Amino acid sequence: MKTKVALARCREYGSEEVDRAVEKVLDLLGGIQSIIKPNSRVLIKPNLLTDSLPEECITTHPRVIEAIIRAVKKVTPNIYVGDSPGYIGQRIEADKVYEATGIKEVCRRQGVKLVYFDKAVLKKNIPLTDWLESCDCIINVPKFKTHGLTTLTGAIKNLFGLVLGAHKVKLHKEHLYRDDFSKQLVDIFGLVKPALTIVDAVIAIEGDGPGSSGTRIDTELILASQDAVAVDSILATVMGLFPLDIPTTKEAFSRKLGEANIENMEILGENLGEFIHSDFKLPKMSLVYCMPKPLFKLARKLTLHKMQVIRKQCQSCRRCIEICPVGAVSFKKDKALINSKECILCACCQEICPHKAITIRRSLLLKILGA
Ligand code: SF4
Ligand code: SF4
Repeated sequence: MKTKVALARCREYGSEEVDRAVEKVLDLLGGIQSIIKPNSRVLIKPNLLTDSLPEECITTHPRVIEAIIRAVKKVTPNIYVGDSPGYIGQRIEADKVYEATGIKEVCRRQGVKLVYFDKAVLKKNIPLTDWLESCDCIINVPKFKTHGLTTLTGAIKNLFGLVLGAHKVKLHKEHLYRDDFSKQLVDIFGLVKPALTIVDAVIAIEGDGPGSSGTRIDTELILASQDAVAVDSILATVMGLFPLDIPTTKEAFSRKLGEANIENMEILGENLGEFIHSDFKLPKMSLVYCMPKPLFKLARKLTLHKMQVIRKQCQSCRRCIEICPVGAVSFKKDKALINSKECILCACCQEICPHKAITIRRSLLLKILGA
């Protein structure tokens, strides 16, 4: 049987439009009743990277979460919403993110419990939130964005947010390169296996996402499937890529955790071809990571490619220092400074910087290639 993926056009974040699109994708998959058992305990996991406003489109839009809550209420009142934003470990900081992103207001309005990921359960030595044990299933609700290290942050990458805040830095440190880190992400996906993934792809982030350095692009889509690998394969197609160009998709597909062949999918609702952006801007870093490891190392050694702080934009918030897994960021005259000899180009600092103050100086090699 073919893997079902449902698509619904959604042009903007008006509540009626989003409700209609979420209902449509669920109906196309056979209804929420066919996926979630009555009275089960459901954890809804958005992507709440940082304390940005919904209109910045860096986080899953609260209207998408609200539409999903409304749909899930038809089968169960036991609904929980939570994330471990960015690399933040403390409840008080997570609370700031819940407030700014509009998720707290949605949960209050819908009478749903907002939860904090501050206690871990070890699964194969990975410290994941203990809410995984308290709930029967997860609804994964990523935001469609580019990512410097993994090219795409979608269904599989969103589950990294189930790792407790401070441990994310440690995991990054232990898996420095793209392929190693992607394997780690797929390990987490293999442990968690969400019951359903619904993507907020109404307005996506292209270019140097997933944070404030990326740019918004109207992709006008809500999509859903019980197969997260298939979801990421569709997102890659929308980006004008092949599904296996995304390292997490390639790894998950090789482990037979889901479908990556579009021809083996039953695409329901809309025509996928209408959503493909052949000029979708990829993150500059993803081009570097296409190089084989030895060449990548050589490129770094020759300092052909560097992360850089734009001093006039730096607001001295120190988030980049806290997040850097190798301690490559320091402060000089009240502004962040990156030591390129230490930097492993993981892009975490760029991801977390709220002021577009971290950029990538393109390598000579990429300039020659015209990338
Ligand atoms: S570079 Fe960005 S994250 Fe780092 S201190 Fe400056 S504003 Fe904050
Ligand atoms: S400076 Fe930024 S890109 Fe470099 S290792 Fe630290 S967090 Fe990663």
